[in-house]
Amino acid sequence: MTQRLGRVPDPAQDDGRPQRHRVVVIGSGFGGLFAVKALQGAPADVTLIDRTTHHLFQPLLYQVATGILSEGEIAPPIRDIFKRERNTDVLLGEVTGIDLTQRAVTSELDGHATVTSYDSLIVAAGAGPSYFGNEQFAAVAPGLKSIDDALTHRQRIFAAFEFADQAESASEREQWLTFAVVGGGPTGVEMAGQLAELSRRSLRDNYRQIDPAASRIVVVEAGPALLAEFGLRLSRKTTADLRKLGIEVLLDTRVVGVDDTGVDTESAAGPQRIPARTIVWAAGVSASPLGGLVANATGAETNRHGQVAVNPDCTLPGHPEVFVVGDLMQISGTPGVAQVAIQSGRFAAKTIRDRLQGRPPRPHFHYRDKGMLATISRFRAVAAIGPLRIGGTPAWVLWLGVHLFYLVGFKNRVTVVLHWAVSFLGKGRSERTAPSLRRSGTQLPPAGRPPMAPDLQTRTSGE
Ligand SMILES: Cc1cc2nc3c(=O)[nH]c(=O)nc-3n(C[C@H](O)[C@H](O)[C@H](O)COP(=O)(O)OP(=O)(O)OC[C@H]3O[C@@H](n4cnc5c(N)ncnc54)[C@H](O)[C@@H]3O)c2cc1C
Repeated sequence: MTQRLGRVPDPAQDDGRPQRHRVVVIGSGFGGLFAVKALQGAPADVTLIDRTTHHLFQPLLYQVATGILSEGEIAPPIRDIFKRERNTDVLLGEVTGIDLTQRAVTSELDGHATVTSYDSLIVAAGAGPSYFGNEQFAAVAPGLKSIDDALTHRQRIFAAFEFADQAESASEREQWLTFAVVGGGPTGVEMAGQLAELSRRSLRDNYRQIDPAASRIVVVEAGPALLAEFGLRLSRKTTADLRKLGIEVLLDTRVVGVDDTGVDTESAAGPQRIPARTIVWAAGVSASPLGGLVANATGAETNRHGQVAVNPDCTLPGHPEVFVVGDLMQISGTPGVAQVAIQSGRFAAKTIRDRLQGRPPRPHFHYRDKGMLATISRFRAVAAIGPLRIGGTPAWVLWLGVHLFYLVGFKNRVTVVLHWAVSFLGKGRSERTAPSLRRSGTQLPPAGRPPMAPDLQTRTSGE
């Protein structure tokens, strides 16, 4: 086990002077990344711990899955992002324990444990997919939360067309050419739209035995509307736009079974089987187990998604030095969107800075809603910004601009624009490479984030 002080080694400080304040940030997603950025130049040493080496721009994962973008374009290395920040260190590892008494975080990398001490802690570990108790669905219907998930989907999607090309019967071909998307939120809608563009435009003329344009794409939504949070008008527009693209939209329809040859649903019309070899799970979120860990230790409540109810200043009850931000926190009904994570991460960092500099910190985190955007296909998107509801090409242009703005790294912005031009102005897909195509969905590598260590531990004061 390595003991880490939670500070960048600084020989100039080994002179008996008091140690600088140590901040540990768990998670390099939007919450963690923007917290660390906001701590730049603070009189503190920052350690950012993540189980991956990158910051992931999740809103563009579906474009990696459908071959528009490469994984590197949406997942820049954290070490590179912070290479000039002398007060910031990066530690690769899965956080498996948080000791609130000793103020120490345990992380593991390939069986090697590291303990990092902190004076302030920001937990920004995000959320994963929820299968609502049907975890067995995950092997055949991966979620879309990580780079591994996106590459798994890419592999399955492009494999499906190849196996359809060599199918021995019409029914087998139909199965391979049917894509079921479970969940009609932004991820499900965006994924379905891109599957339509891929099959109807990009793959045209690529095959001699099959017509990719004949692919069946089905979105299954348990609720009465797609993109419910965008309001009735945009929701109806989205449904109409998807149907125009030839996508089947099943509303008020629950998925009750998933296996490697299809999806079973239930609705008022009765049970239905959708034979499909490619299934994308875009329904439900479940907060990182680290949320339950710190909640149990402090008596904080968690909601049905596992998000932690925090104090108005994003701190844990009884632990003003521990902040929970982003998708993992529950505070006055804020949605699970990137802006909440960015703003709460910055808020936590600002509170730490204020405390260090003797300024009174703001007592409440206040979320400034900047609106919501979702794309349907090229030139079509929807935007809900305050009272404004925009659809079609203007919303799509806005979507392009906002996503470019928040994408990390100049080089990534340039190459993303080039790849968008290839896909949206032309018909191509720059990233169709997928490793070893295999026949059965279940034989492909499971959707992969590293497994959470089973023995998560924490201790609170008083133990
Ligand atoms: C497919 C998809 C599309 C989306 N589209 C949009 C959109 O268009 N607009 C929008 O506003 N929002 C969108 N969101 C939501 C948005 O991405 C999230 O709200 C945001 O990423 C939350 O940020 P976060 O920092 O809380 O968590 P995350 O970004 O999930 O980051 C969590 C980090 O913690 C790390 N981590 C987790 N557990 C551990 C552990 N035990 N040890 C070490 N590291 C750990 C993870 O590796 C990850 O890097 C989308 C999400 C998805 C999945």
